[in-house]
Amino acid sequence: MLFSKLREPREYQNRRLDSLAEPPEVGHELFVGLSALRDTLSSRHHSRDFAFAHARYLRSRVLALGLIFALLSPLWIVVDALVLPSELLWYTLAGRVGLLLGLVGVLALAYFSLERIRRIRFSAGMLLALPAGFYLLVLIMLPAEQVRHLVGYGFIPFLLVAALSVFPFTLLESLVAGLAMLGLLAFTQVIDGSWLTGRGLESVWLLSSLLVVSLAANHFQLSLLLRLYRQATHDSLTGLFNRGALEEHLEKVQAWQRDTEGQDSLGSVPCSLLMADLDHFKRINDSYGHSVGDSVLCQFAELLMRQTRRHDCVARYGGEEFVIILVGSGQARAMEIADRIRRAVEKTEFSSHDGQSIPVTTSIGVTRLEQDEPAQEAIKRADEALYRAKREGRNQVMAALSPSDPSI
Ligand code: GH3
Ligand code: MG
Ligand code: MG
Repeated sequence: MLFSKLREPREYQNRRLDSLAEPPEVGHELFVGLSALRDTLSSRHHSRDFAFAHARYLRSRVLALGLIFALLSPLWIVVDALVLPSELLWYTLAGRVGLLLGLVGVLALAYFSLERIRRIRFSAGMLLALPAGFYLLVLIMLPAEQVRHLVGYGFIPFLLVAALSVFPFTLLESLVAGLAMLGLLAFTQVIDGSWLTGRGLESVWLLSSLLVVSLAANHFQLSLLLRLYRQATHDSLTGLFNRGALEEHLEKVQAWQRDTEGQDSLGSVPCSLLMADLDHFKRINDSYGHSVGDSVLCQFAELLMRQTRRHDCVARYGGEEFVIILVGSGQARAMEIADRIRRAVEKTEFSSHDGQSIPVTTSIGVTRLEQDEPAQEAIKRADEALYRAKREGRNQVMAALSPSDPSI
């Protein structure tokens, strides 16, 4: 491993990241007020990472329910054949063939849209819209006096509102779908003459109650999903990304670097990786106790968050080791930031539970993150640079040369 006093490469920090596609977002802000209605009401505050996890979950529901609808719908032809006059049967038969084709289309769309959030949402919407559209069409096509011959159609709005509870929809999405079903029910009642009658009101009340139950189910389902996502990806002590989430995020940053390479005349966006380790942390535990050690880790994590920007990622890699990905910073700039962090740690008054000041310092290894290398390589280089900083006496920043450096 070679280490060097760096030559200053062309600096990137003044270039406008805004002109490029958004770098992968770091979703720490998602969980402020985890159980709050805000996060289940709409997806506005969801991080992009969570949006992907959410879409994968939604997709599995679309595939399962789409398959059930596609299998059950043709079966009802038998009932239609028994109860409908033959001249009406052809109407419904043609409608069911159309519905089946539509459902197969939705299944195909969801199946081939593994990472396409918008397409998955669209297919979930279509899964509900198709049976509703089919029913609406049958109602419009049939002469009003023949509508009473229909058997097993009136429950379609109720079935669809109940089906809302199977999906991890946001409350607003479910509310829009539920109101559309109420509109469909009202239309049916105007046609069959039960609008504003006792029987009609009873149906409206039943559908509204079902909608409220489905909304509650959506809220609990989405809250649970948010909580599980948080536990799987975030460190419970500091609230930062954990090691697994960091490794996934690193790959996303590299993919983003590759994607944006052609969008800017200056080539790919340089990114850097810092590995910071608290010096003699064991002594803090031994002198003040484990819980003060925990508190120092939290204070250190907060300091790192304050010292970095929105798209930079701060993660707890292991015990008292933290990794920072600096988006848009080449190695020279990353060295400056790392040294700024080192000095900030040295100057900060870390405190024990009774307000006693604890001197804390950190050593940091810095490397450039190459877009085409395995992410583990960059972590290994930063770790080796960190090890060297420790050996050289701690409380210092050390750079590792990346493999693409011409001087290697
Ligand atoms: P160095 O300067 O070489 O890094 O020395 P160090 O004492 O910081 O490193 P060492 O690897 O010897 O000890 C790390 C300590 O961090 C040991 C472990 O008990 C402690 N540690 C790891 N995770 C936690 C945690 O979550 N909370 C607390 N309080 N301590 C932790
Ligand atoms: Mg240490
Ligand atoms: Mg360590």
